[in-house]
Amino acid sequence: MFRLTRDWVIRQLLFEEFGSYSEVVRKALWVGIKVSLFAYGLNICAHLLLYWFDLLPYSLSSALVIASMLTPPITFILATTAYVAVGFSIHELGVSRAEFEWLSRTDMLSGLPNRRAFLELFDQCNKEKSMLVFDIDHFKKVNDSYGHQAGDAVIAEVARILSAVFGEGCVCARIGGEEFAVFSGSIPFAEFVVLGEAARRKFADMRVSVDEREISITMSGGAARALPDQAFDETFSRADKALYAAKAGGRNRIVLSYSTEPVSANRTRCAAA
Ligand code: GH3
Ligand code: MG
Ligand code: MG
Repeated sequence: MFRLTRDWVIRQLLFEEFGSYSEVVRKALWVGIKVSLFAYGLNICAHLLLYWFDLLPYSLSSALVIASMLTPPITFILATTAYVAVGFSIHELGVSRAEFEWLSRTDMLSGLPNRRAFLELFDQCNKEKSMLVFDIDHFKKVNDSYGHQAGDAVIAEVARILSAVFGEGCVCARIGGEEFAVFSGSIPFAEFVVLGEAARRKFADMRVSVDEREISITMSGGAARALPDQAFDETFSRADKALYAAKAGGRNRIVLSYSTEPVSANRTRCAAA
């Protein structure tokens, strides 16, 4: 009996039941009806039992009338109120938890997933993947010349362009100060790199207006492929090496890391001058 009751309570407390206030109220009414019918049945049985053993201190008909008039409404009100109070609290806890989860995985300036979210999504994707790491060239100069706020505006615009170019099927993230990353488990590597080149050109053409001045930047990128079982760290390390090569090669370009072997066995080559 105890186990049955416990399982029933746990079933009622499943989070889906608390998805919205109206869902909680709807469920509370239903639980109230069930509990009041159950209590009413118990009450009637108890009276019949007492009557059977000749222990009922008043007549059976009075007992049944009183039980019928009092038990269902009282238990319905108590059960419904208790369920609504607990249900609303659980709903609010669930909403706060979801908000906290979103905040902990989102970069506030760009609105993109942060490094932690990107890493998790990458490692959860059990397919062959393509990854691109982008870094704004000489970004320190932008801050020094136009101010930190102007730098922030550039970061936000880069994020917008990145999402627009890569779109569905890709995860775009801001993984560091002026560093962005994209991966896809559905777009073939060659197509993915073409998108990367399109993004790089758009970054170079982009103009961000701040205080009647126009800021332009370029970005360098490093791309790497990952086999389904290759983790973020390993793939990122190769993409980052390719990015380093892009910086060393003159910036405003994407370098590909072709190998799917560990970093030591990599070959890199320039894809764009
Ligand atoms: P490189 O081409 O080698 O990447 O040069 P860089 O100047 O871009 O690289 P460096 O690492 O020297 O400087 C990065 C700068 O990015 C320094 C830091 O102040 C700036 N930065 C990092 N995060 C933010 C941010 O959130 N907002 C702004 N405005 N600047 C940021
Ligand atoms: Mg930089
Ligand atoms: Mg950097």
